[in-house]
Amino acid sequence: MTPRLRGALRRRLLAWYRANRRDLPWRRTREPYAIWISEAMLQQTRVETVIPYWQRFLARFPDVEALATAGVDDVTALWAGLGYYSRARNLHRAAQVVMERHAGRLPDDVEALRELPGVGRYTAGALASIAFDKPAPVVDGNVARVLTRLFAIDADVGSRAVQERLWSEAEQLARGDEPGALNQALMELGATVCTPRAPRCAECPWSAQCAAHAQGRAESLPVKARPAPARRLEAVAGFLVRHDRVLAVRRPQRGLLGGLWELPGGELRGGEAPDRALARALREGVGLGIRAPEPLGAIEHAFTHRLLRLHIFRGSAGAGRVRRAGWEAHRWVSAAGLAALPLGGPTRKALARLETAAQP
Ligand code: SF4
Repeated sequence: MTPRLRGALRRRLLAWYRANRRDLPWRRTREPYAIWISEAMLQQTRVETVIPYWQRFLARFPDVEALATAGVDDVTALWAGLGYYSRARNLHRAAQVVMERHAGRLPDDVEALRELPGVGRYTAGALASIAFDKPAPVVDGNVARVLTRLFAIDADVGSRAVQERLWSEAEQLARGDEPGALNQALMELGATVCTPRAPRCAECPWSAQCAAHAQGRAESLPVKARPAPARRLEAVAGFLVRHDRVLAVRRPQRGLLGGLWELPGGELRGGEAPDRALARALREGVGLGIRAPEPLGAIEHAFTHRLLRLHIFRGSAGAGRVRRAGWEAHRWVSAAGLAALPLGGPTRKALARLETAAQP
């Protein structure tokens, strides 16, 4: 692409953005911390979902110091329902690093930003450009879709070669005035006009230059390699009751749903019936038996690469002390206390199932 053409694309895109940009709360601030929180929340999550979470988060943790000095459970509890909890834990740790190394001020260059926990190439580019107006590129799913269509790139968008090409094109586009606005415009175009299905090319500021549009195949791009099928998991979990309280256990910090609370249980082993699996998993995991377990049915939960079917039971805990294996903490809590803990999606669904079972 010639510099002249690139300049024309930039100007058209910025003009379109000024006229069409959505009024989002994090666009009304220049405060880097607030923009950082929005970027962390917007990964994998829709704008409409993020808005109330972002507002609550900033009300509770208004600056880096407030976040850094909070308990990690308070942070993940405010995150409950947004999913991908590692983002919350990383934000918390990153805030502590910003306090220690940068005197509480978010660094403004890509390299220093990328040293923070949870800040990858995308987030570093977004923060450097949007919060500090540095000419740093961003490529998220929206940008990748717009650029693969603009250049009619036929190869797998997840391949290293295509990714490098996209980052290189985005970098050249971001070099110029208003890199933060340019990057937001590119993401906005992908989110609102150059959509996966039925892109509105007639409204697009780049339609005259877009190769995929000219060839009439915008909707067939980008090309994505078929993802590996989700692995199916079958597991059991029990509301283990003692003196009107249930046992909650906390997962290790690393790994799937790391640091979140859940009901004790575990995966079924080959051919095992759910009730037998529950008795075994409780014996092995918390050292307790369960009396007269009552089945409450099963819930399903989809993770990125896994599909979980979780059989839920309720029963009285056998005598003895909890002896944990595989969980990092446990508590006997009321039903309300359980709901107030930072829980993963499957446990929230299990709680809903319990409430349904309790209704007459
Ligand atoms: Fe996307 Fe159509 Fe614009 Fe091309 S012309 S960038 S396909 S909306």
